[in-house]
Amino acid sequence: MIENNAMQSLPPYLFARIEKKIEEAREKGMDIINLGIGDPDQPTPKHIIDRMAEAIYDAANHQYPSSVGLLSFRQAVANWYKRRFNVDLDAKSEVVSLLGSKEGIAHISFCYLNAGDINLVPAPGYPVYGIGTLLAQGESHIMPLKAENNFLPVLEDIPEQVAKKAKLMFLNYPNNPTGAVADLAFFSQVVEFARNYDILVCHDAAYTELCYDGFKPPSFLQAPGAKEVGIEINSLSKPYNMTGWRIGWAAGNPAAVEVLGRFKSNVDSGVFQAIQYAGIEALEGSQDSLQKMQELYQQRRDTALAGLKKIGLIITPPKGTFYLWVPVPQGYNSSDFAEEVLEKASVIITPGLGYGEHGEGYFRITLTVDKDRLAEAFDRIHKAFGKF
Ligand SMILES: *Cc1c(COP(=O)(O)O)cnc(C)c1O
Repeated sequence: MIENNAMQSLPPYLFARIEKKIEEAREKGMDIINLGIGDPDQPTPKHIIDRMAEAIYDAANHQYPSSVGLLSFRQAVANWYKRRFNVDLDAKSEVVSLLGSKEGIAHISFCYLNAGDINLVPAPGYPVYGIGTLLAQGESHIMPLKAENNFLPVLEDIPEQVAKKAKLMFLNYPNNPTGAVADLAFFSQVVEFARNYDILVCHDAAYTELCYDGFKPPSFLQAPGAKEVGIEINSLSKPYNMTGWRIGWAAGNPAAVEVLGRFKSNVDSGVFQAIQYAGIEALEGSQDSLQKMQELYQQRRDTALAGLKKIGLIITPPKGTFYLWVPVPQGYNSSDFAEEVLEKASVIITPGLGYGEHGEGYFRITLTVDKDRLAEAFDRIHKAFGKF
């Protein structure tokens, strides 16, 4: 039996080679510092776990949930948007729950692309934008994110005939992997572009709550007219250390929310209700733990920036996300550099090429290890390579 063309063209696991190296290094008993993982290392806050523990004993939560989500969860999302962004959302028609944002990101392509339709996809970027497109038999048109444009796509560079054929556009700010942020002026340009070409914008907002120096990034839905052309996808994974729980949402354009909900009601049966109650607690309970996480990541970011400086790599401090996107030293490509850093310093970094050709020339480090280990990672690199 042979899988379909889309499955056959699914790229092999991007980091296969480096995974193999890690395994070999571990077998040799090397103490490896992994700066490659995009998964928070801290536990889910206790008050959220406690709410889950309570909800799990309620038999009413043991049955199939509604696939679009409990109205009380969707209302908590709407209330959060009002408090956080002053955006009004109707919980019933403008919010749908997701099994984590990855699920919604992958499925929205199935809802809007016919075979051969175009999705405007940023690169480097979260791989699921392109993979969902591929599985839905659409075509990705890459919007390159370059340092000289502050890692924002240049909408004027999208050829007219491509824009006319495009059905979807993905965006993600604060951005993985570049750490870049977008302002409302940019989002307003996007709204206008999407209106002109009748494109649904899907803004992946996974990192709006993980920012530095008191910076509060905007929601795409704050841009005037955004709700007419787009949805925002978000989740509790990153701000509340809930990556394993699988709960998120899409919010905004009611027609798109309905379409995604209808798709989901045919392929999944929603988020375990006990998890939805824990999600309500995350959004409406104490935000002290979020503040602590922001402080923790900020300390780590500053430790990493100091470490980078020590090895002669100076970057503009990112305003958001838990990633640093760093140009590779002269004379290396990203894969060679990552391999050498692993071999000589037992430190794992992610080569930019893992994000496709538009990531070449960079490496990514993640701030999901404690600051002593981060400092040690740079000490080791310094010892092995000196100053670049
Ligand atoms: C981590 C991440 C997600 C996925 O989050 P889940 O809600 O856990 O599926 C989505 N987008 C980006 C850019 C991410 O880095």
